[in-house]
Amino acid sequence: MKYMVGNWKMNQTKAEIEIFFKETKIPAQTKYEAWIAPQALHVTLCQSLAKDIKIGAQNCHEKDSGAFTGENSPQALKDLGAHFVLIGHSERRAIYKEGHELLNQKTAHALKTGLKVIFCVGETLEERNGGKTFDVLKTQLDLGLKNITDWNNLIIAYEPVWAIGTGVTASPAQAEEAHAFIKKHLQRNCVVLYGGSVKPDNVKELMSCPSIDGGLVGGASLKAQDFSALCAACA
Ligand code: PEP
Repeated sequence: MKYMVGNWKMNQTKAEIEIFFKETKIPAQTKYEAWIAPQALHVTLCQSLAKDIKIGAQNCHEKDSGAFTGENSPQALKDLGAHFVLIGHSERRAIYKEGHELLNQKTAHALKTGLKVIFCVGETLEERNGGKTFDVLKTQLDLGLKNITDWNNLIIAYEPVWAIGTGVTASPAQAEEAHAFIKKHLQRNCVVLYGGSVKPDNVKELMSCPSIDGGLVGGASLKAQDFSALCAACA
């Protein structure tokens, strides 16, 4: 199965969400499942408006309940009908200092709760230029997915940090090399999405790479026209 997943980050008003779902057209013949991760506060609204798009979340806590002011419980997300959750997005790793052990706990718990997990990995520009890309990916996968075996519900997203929100996309050759490495390292033909400045005008080239199973898209998933075009390009 292939996927086109939108990560809305901390964007979209109620009015913008209503327009998005009214205007987005997912082609019936597309090979891709369309998923959107709005802010957790908007999961219910999106669920009520989405017809052929599955709704998820961008983060969750590693426990279901307790004295964790301001956190989002995976069980509460599941109760709202969330289908999946992103774990380990580079913004969570860099801004909120989420480390391997915590991400491992979050992944294990989200899967246990019945949410599918998109586990994000990727190197910084400094790491790439220092020849450390594969070491970084290996560490993120080995520690973040330690003792995780539920591969039916787990998707990997390769998102080079230098390509996220920058307008600079990994070349198809760079992306293919990283995706092939991830599958080889994990010793399975798991689903691996590419993320990092995917746009309607570069999506076809990237998605035609043999080891790329879909996209995780930030900026270009916010507008109905762009997200529809991404899904149509994969038809
Ligand atoms: C992302 O946030 O996961 C992402 C890939 O963002 P963008 O498409 O804007 O680079």
